[in-house]
Amino acid sequence: MSLETNRPEIEVRGLHKSFGTNEVLRGIDLEIGQGEVVCVIGPSGSGKSTLLRCVNLLEEPSKGQIFVGGTELTDPDVDIDAVRRRIGMVFQQFNLFPHLSVTENLTLPQRRVLRRDKATAAKVAAENLARVGLAEKADAYPASLSGGQQQRVAIARALAMGPDVMLFDEPTSALDPELVGDVLAVMRMLAREGMTMMVVTHEMTFAREVADRVVFMDAGVIVEDGAPARVIGNPQHERTRHFLSRLL
Ligand code: ADP
Ligand code: MG
Repeated sequence: MSLETNRPEIEVRGLHKSFGTNEVLRGIDLEIGQGEVVCVIGPSGSGKSTLLRCVNLLEEPSKGQIFVGGTELTDPDVDIDAVRRRIGMVFQQFNLFPHLSVTENLTLPQRRVLRRDKATAAKVAAENLARVGLAEKADAYPASLSGGQQQRVAIARALAMGPDVMLFDEPTSALDPELVGDVLAVMRMLAREGMTMMVVTHEMTFAREVADRVVFMDAGVIVEDGAPARVIGNPQHERTRHFLSRLL
């Protein structure tokens, strides 16, 4: 029992990933504790999305081990669907079904994947729309919503599955600047509630204020991993300093 609760929620050991001859992840070791918020930063092409996609098994690791909630995802006998249900993922593109209402976007995966009955799925959908401040959009269609509202629907859809872990891949990068704040506010709320989160982002203010740790990746390795005040405020490596100086 105590062993179980002391284990990191996400554990990545010696992870390598190649596409053909292109080795994109070159030995990643990372532990994320329960309720911890880790922001992943780094230049374009450094392997941030690939890392996140490996943690969700959207990509198959070439080598190494990944554990989520103590279950080894890289075990060939693992029930991938069962593990994936515990991991919510939010992408830069919201990927809502355009022909379904907001509520239907939230109830469909609950019914298909979790086999929830209609009434339960609708109740959970309503609760999670309220959580992201969009209760009044329940019957709207995605095209009538702003990008920020669509992204909050995508977050609510992931939350409706009751995940233990949430992965975000540049959730605000496709949004007009004035819509970014509402999405970040929802993510702050989740962090406060104790959700375990791994967030690829260029939002340094968010990383400084919300993250417990910041991980800087470059060329498929973790160059720096530590408190935001250290990694962003006082980086130890030239590569980190160079990356941060270009963001300003
Ligand atoms: P980041 O998210 O940090 O910008 P990515 O993980 O998306 O980086 O990409 C890292 C490298 O992996 C890039 O060189 C990219 O072209 C390559 N890559 C990513 N996905 C694939 C894929 N499905 N097939 C081939 N190459 C890929
Ligand atoms: Mg990416």
